[in-house]
Amino acid sequence: MSPFLDLPPLSAAQFAAIEDRVAALLHTTADVIVTQGEALLPLEAAIRGAAHAGSTALNIVTGPYGQTFGNWLRSCGADVVDLAVPFDSAVRAEQVAEALRARPETDFVSLVHAEAATGNTNPVAEIAAVVRAHGALLMLDAVASVAAEPLLTDEWGVDLCVIGGQKAMGGPAGVSAVSVSDRAWERIAANPAAPRRSYLSLLDWKERWTDAGRTVLPHAPAQLEMLALDACLERIEADTLTATIARHRAAAAATRAGVRALGTLTPFVHQDRHAAPVATTLRTPPGLHAAELAARLDPALPVQSGGGALATGMLRVNHYGSAASLQSVQSVLTALAETLPGTTPEQATSAAAEAWTAALTTA
Ligand SMILES: *Cc1c(COP(=O)(O)O)cnc(C)c1O
Repeated sequence: MSPFLDLPPLSAAQFAAIEDRVAALLHTTADVIVTQGEALLPLEAAIRGAAHAGSTALNIVTGPYGQTFGNWLRSCGADVVDLAVPFDSAVRAEQVAEALRARPETDFVSLVHAEAATGNTNPVAEIAAVVRAHGALLMLDAVASVAAEPLLTDEWGVDLCVIGGQKAMGGPAGVSAVSVSDRAWERIAANPAAPRRSYLSLLDWKERWTDAGRTVLPHAPAQLEMLALDACLERIEADTLTATIARHRAAAAATRAGVRALGTLTPFVHQDRHAAPVATTLRTPPGLHAAELAARLDPALPVQSGGGALATGMLRVNHYGSAASLQSVQSVLTALAETLPGTTPEQATSAAAEAWTAALTTA
């Protein structure tokens, strides 16, 4: 019989224990709410909880998700300032400071930590310090950074930190979580437009679950997703978070070094320090269509073309979970060498091995 059928319902104690494990992963003592839906659910819930007519939001756009946040903020009636930088770079803390100085009334800042779609990562520690000094609330989309790079929610002063299970965690899609600081709770509770009696309501969860002692679940838990999330957290704890992060960092470094040795393709993100450990994006030269190139590769490889307008000129190598291994990176490089005319895999795979070792020894 299928192990997925006739499961007993997940207990409140199990659900609470999973929240505590997520809190440890995020290095936070704040409330963590595990949400049963894709990460866009807690992201929208956080924005609709905190933003309202009369608030001024600085929305930092370093990739496609920032654009979505701006639209939600505007639909809440907030006055939105978009700070956009090219998707192949990162935003600098000085740019954020300057934008806050220009609009001192800014009370909310939204930022994506790492962008899986474009392969860049932002210096959150420095940006969060600037936001904290200004006094605004900071929402961080850490879906693509959790388990791939350090994520120090409390130390950095992140008020609303959102994660999903399916990227570097190597876990299930369709479950996500958000940590909510005391400051954020105060803001949401004081917002008359914050969703109530709604699937998007963080306040409902606080009232009916967190503050009620977490003894009775307000909804039927999605036990398959929750069991998968629990197993994924257990695996990260067994491997250690430090080792998981180091593997992702090494996989990105190895991919960048291997591709440079291969020729033809170039890293999309110019500077190594702006490259996200979760996924490496590559630029194809003019005339080489990225989606057509991706279609010629073994579909089991963690490679796809960029989304939307990026499908022509961008390839994306994912290092999600178990794909953050030297073997996976070398398989991708070998497949690319076999597909691209005039390239051979040996130099690329040995450059990758060297960069992998160097990244692990400097971790
Ligand atoms: C993947 C991703 C999301 C969306 O996650 P879903 O669970 O698919 O909603 C949001 N933000 C970033 C930065 C991502 O990489």
